Amino acid sequence: MSITIQNINKTFGKFQALNDVSLKIPEGKLTALLGPSGSGKTTLLRIIAGLESSDAGKILFSGEDVSHLHVRDRNIGFVFQHYALFRHLTVAQNIAFGLESLPRKERPSKQEIAQRVEKLLEMIQLPQLADRFPSQLSGGQKQRVALARALATQPRILLLDEPFGALDAKVRKDLRRWLRALHDEYHFTSIFVTHDQEEALELSDQVVVMSQGKVEQVDSPAQLYARPDSRFVFDFLGHVN
Ligand code: ADP
Repeated sequence: MSITIQNINKTFGKFQALNDVSLKIPEGKLTALLGPSGSGKTTLLRIIAGLESSDAGKILFSGEDVSHLHVRDRNIGFVFQHYALFRHLTVAQNIAFGLESLPRKERPSKQEIAQRVEKLLEMIQLPQLADRFPSQLSGGQKQRVALARALATQPRILLLDEPFGALDAKVRKDLRRWLRALHDEYHFTSIFVTHDQEEALELSDQVVVMSQGKVEQVDSPAQLYARPDSRFVFDFLGHVN
């Protein structure tokens, strides 16, 4: 499912967080939203998700205007920086949660839910931890479970907000591999917010660089380096080793 962002504006009081943002997010690719703190990345993600409304503009999924759809009806998977797993549910129950919560008509059978959970546990290579509680997992394991949980309802879109931000470098590297592997299996369209340039350049098919509520450049990681569009992008990328 492609995502089209058309002329989105968002103000908080007098502060303009997003200033006429238009963007095309290609189907089945990983897009990184990169930019300094306060540039509007999270706000844009929340508007795409339907967690926040925009003042003007439209969001389209594969050409269909979803601007007025509730978050529930957008069929999006989310992963946040802080795992947001349910502490009182086991790993398997956490992964099954989205499926169990579907309206009866859309809910798979108990057996099918169990099969999907099992497959996802195998994908993230944690089948032995199915009955553990989140407090018994490492940070990296929790975030693998969060990825599996987000994908259980087979969303066509996966949004990640600084998904690996709270973890150390080695675990972050592993998680990038998990995200890639899951993407190769499920082919969802994905946007992930990061302020980590290495992560953006390594993991994504397309990078969107934002600054002060505007899109500065949209390009493949290689082209972004080869041809920065502006002094801002040049300076910003200059900090990468
Ligand atoms: P980023 O994700 O790039 O760090 P954000 O989208 O979180 O940027 O924030 C963009 C700007 O909007 C920031 O200056 C932030 O303080 C402001 N902002 C975001 N959410 C709110 C809110 N709910 N109320 C007031 N200001 C907000």
